[in-house]
Amino acid sequence: MAHLDGVSVTHRADGKTTAALEAVDLDIISGERLAIIGESGSGKSTLALALAGLLPDNADVTGRIRWPALGHTPLPGRDIGFVFQDAGASLNPVLTVGEQIAEVAQAHLGIGWYEAYGHALRLLERVHIPQPEAALGAYPHQLSGGQRQRVCIASAIAARPKLLIADEPTSALDMVVQAEIVALLQELVREDGMTLVFITHDIALASGFADRIAVFRKARLVEIGPREKVLAHPRDAYTASLIASHIDLHSPPLIDEAA
Ligand code: ADP
Ligand code: MG
Repeated sequence: MAHLDGVSVTHRADGKTTAALEAVDLDIISGERLAIIGESGSGKSTLALALAGLLPDNADVTGRIRWPALGHTPLPGRDIGFVFQDAGASLNPVLTVGEQIAEVAQAHLGIGWYEAYGHALRLLERVHIPQPEAALGAYPHQLSGGQRQRVCIASAIAARPKLLIADEPTSALDMVVQAEIVALLQELVREDGMTLVFITHDIALASGFADRIAVFRKARLVEIGPREKVLAHPRDAYTASLIASHIDLHSPPLIDEAA
């Protein structure tokens, strides 16, 4: 899907330059579910924005990102769908749910408004919003946090992107809703054959479904590998400490598919 070759990102602020990503080499494999984990400030969101070409103006990028599967530089919204932590802030408060999903569909699919609005209804059904017809005409503040995140996901997949990047999509939600949103993302990527990059600071959450886990620390990729390998035999001391501190030994086995 994407090849990152020595990608570094620095930010200029207040006359100082800080490194947010340093010399990252990473291949994102088409169709995989890749979890990106790491503590706050380790560069996870910077990676997501670099992939989508959405870095802010004060960021400088060196290195190369290639997209052989696409054959062109991806257009955010069309080729890459984004889901962010704060669903409330991602949605437009003065547009109905139906209007904002239809806008994305209309912009990227070359269809008219009427068709786009019908597409929005089907998307709300796909993300399992209760009473999807009523939800079409609702404003974001009339929905719960979990339902708002479902709307963001519907919007993110409206143009049928090949890659879905979810940046801490469940961090603002309670545990039960977190699990439901993760299950939904898994269902959607399976149905559409999308590649999923799931960013989280929660290794337990990542270990539940990821094919591979990439660990970031202080702007560097310190480890990447198949989920069961990273969890059972972390090569990096930092990964080992993350696992030790986050995985509850009394919870059900995490490595359900490992031989
Ligand atoms: P994470 O998502 O892992 O918490 P980020 O990618 O957001 O980490 O941040 C990585 C580093 O880059 C941090 O030190 C952060 O302060 C810095 N950073 C991120 N965005 C900006 C920005 N727009 N301007 C200046 N520094 C930034
Ligand atoms: Mg972040």
